[in-house]
Amino acid sequence: MQNGTQLLIGVIATIPWPVRLLFKGIIKCVTLMTLYMSNMWWPPNTVGGLLNKFLFLLLSSLTVFNFLMATFTGAGYLELGWKPKDENDTKFLQYCSVCEGYKAPRSHHCRKCNRCVKKMDHHCPWINNCVGWANHAYFTSFLAFAVIGSIQASIILVGSFYRGIHRQWYLYHGQFQLATVHFGLWSLILCIFSLGLAIGVVIAVGMLLYFQIRAIMRNRTGIEDWILEKANYRREGTSEKFVYPYDLGVKENIFQVLSLTCTPIGDGITWKVRDDCDQYTLTCEQIAQKAEKRARTRVYKIIRPATGSYIPLFSQGFKVCLSPPCTDEPRIKLEVGDTVRVTRWRKHWLFGERESPSSVAINNENTTSKSKSNSISPKRLPRGWFPRRCAVELVQPDDDRGTIQYNEDEEISGSYDQHQESDEHNHVDCQEEKKTK
Ligand SMILES: [Zn+2]
Ligand SMILES: [Zn+2]
Repeated sequence: MQNGTQLLIGVIATIPWPVRLLFKGIIKCVTLMTLYMSNMWWPPNTVGGLLNKFLFLLLSSLTVFNFLMATFTGAGYLELGWKPKDENDTKFLQYCSVCEGYKAPRSHHCRKCNRCVKKMDHHCPWINNCVGWANHAYFTSFLAFAVIGSIQASIILVGSFYRGIHRQWYLYHGQFQLATVHFGLWSLILCIFSLGLAIGVVIAVGMLLYFQIRAIMRNRTGIEDWILEKANYRREGTSEKFVYPYDLGVKENIFQVLSLTCTPIGDGITWKVRDDCDQYTLTCEQIAQKAEKRARTRVYKIIRPATGSYIPLFSQGFKVCLSPPCTDEPRIKLEVGDTVRVTRWRKHWLFGERESPSSVAINNENTTSKSKSNSISPKRLPRGWFPRRCAVELVQPDDDRGTIQYNEDEEISGSYDQHQESDEHNHVDCQEEKKTK
């Protein structure tokens, strides 16, 4: 309980105020303006008008309620130092050196929360929390009520606007019952502004809702989409086919997330899987993908210092600044002589983990991870992007490839790896061991 309260306070404290202010502003502006206009457009002294107003208030309340529940329930963190009941099963799982425990199936380490999150979907800046196992239903309900409420608000505002600008016409033709909406300058401006916001919410949040519903119907999070895509890519040209273990059919998939009470199903660790799969089908695939990634890793030596800036205009020039990697992952500060294990390549940027110790710290990390990353710990070296012109590749004596191979799936791994922040754990033969088990 103590832990939960501290966490709650921590979460509230870390929501960036402009985000909170902007979101509150949008909600307040649209809600108040819609209520004001609906009073004139369809006064609540009729049954229809009363129902219209009641429905709008209900939708607004449900939006706020689900927003707060998604924020404060959180996605559900995996307990620190977690390991499976059967010690033998650890070989099928990845290890998270930050949480000092194994990652349960479908759990991923979130850099922003700095914890392993159960069935992590994504870290949402709007709720300043992860969306995952425990709050997936609340988050989806929040999106759904926000969209339906905004559609109703748009209808009310369009109707009011139309009646308002035709007021003189109604009065001239003696249709006094329709001349109920009258605008002042400010109410006209606010009506148009709120209408724009409401339509914006319908489009933007509607798209998010569409992706969430699609993910729920497939029982696949955003991260699992990447894992599956890579799994299929790895098997291209072979007869082997990867079976995604959590696809139980549309109806069952929906019941895995949505319910009337929004309570999460199970414990977020053990999952219902298809008959031809087991609990570790996906984790073993992840381990195999990691092993492939390690085999691709190349070592680079730093020949020019990297500042760790997101826009290193003065030190690196325009070319580097104009083609940044489109991700909020950290940029690392490097000094001449450092060596870096590079796993991803862009035209002007490289992503890797610094190998040799020096006084380097991750630039621009969030506050929670700052304390950990600033003190160089042997278990977690700084990793991030740096300008390509700062480094040259060290060609190993037994290396016959010489130059870097541009791999098309690097773009894919880019987004996927963003979530795969945990440190590597050597279980390459996982698939084999499972077969013999
Ligand atoms: Zn972790
Ligand atoms: Zn998170």
